[in-house]
Amino acid sequence: MRLRKKQHIVKILRFVEDRISDKTKAQRFRRWQHELFGLTPDEWASLALSISCHESLDIAVQRQGWLEKECARLKGLQEPYDPEIASAYHMTRYEKTNNETICEQLLSLKSHAEKPIASKAIFRALWHTQCADAQTFTWHLTPWLVERCVLSGGCCGRSCECCTRARCDLPAWANARGHCTPACPCCGERNGLQGPISVIAPDPNQLPFSLRPDRSDRFSWNMMDALVWGIGDC
Ligand SMILES: [Zn+2]
Ligand SMILES: [Zn+2]
Ligand SMILES: [Zn+2]
Repeated sequence: MRLRKKQHIVKILRFVEDRISDKTKAQRFRRWQHELFGLTPDEWASLALSISCHESLDIAVQRQGWLEKECARLKGLQEPYDPEIASAYHMTRYEKTNNETICEQLLSLKSHAEKPIASKAIFRALWHTQCADAQTFTWHLTPWLVERCVLSGGCCGRSCECCTRARCDLPAWANARGHCTPACPCCGERNGLQGPISVIAPDPNQLPFSLRPDRSDRFSWNMMDALVWGIGDC
């Protein structure tokens, strides 16, 4: 398709898309546009990096929540002075500051990765799924994602409701919600795991699902429907 002709068609399709009031129909229309135009290899790489940053951020933010609680706990034990407690407090506070920087760096890397794909149908779909109704904090509470959390031993299988609340006190994550990761403090307390959990650096080649699944890869289809397209019961 010649570039100018393609740009003209994309413009018309955007015009139509913006006038579809039904959310599911609008998402299906975005998916149809994505299937029609696809992405370049560089754009696929950008999408993979963005989603990979999101996965790492889920871990980093939950780690931050644990560090905040642990700092408060150790601070409360400072009197009378105990050198071991004082040392643990300073180490934890140091890790908390470091982890906060990691959160900021991951967010910045994610924003940078999204710039080249911001106008693409698949990214518009992702934004509408995860951010358009961000103030309701419920986009991730779909039956399939909740079941996945339950089956992994996460908080959705208990009455604590951690997945419905902010995971740390950092203002930038006040509106962020997510299911449990290995860094969830509540799951850690239940399983006796309170040791250091490193935040995994984003690696687009190690995503646990495919961004371009074939028909037989049901897990990846469900993940893409849940995280990007926001359709069905996923
Ligand atoms: Zn949990
Ligand atoms: Zn919990
Ligand atoms: Zn959950």
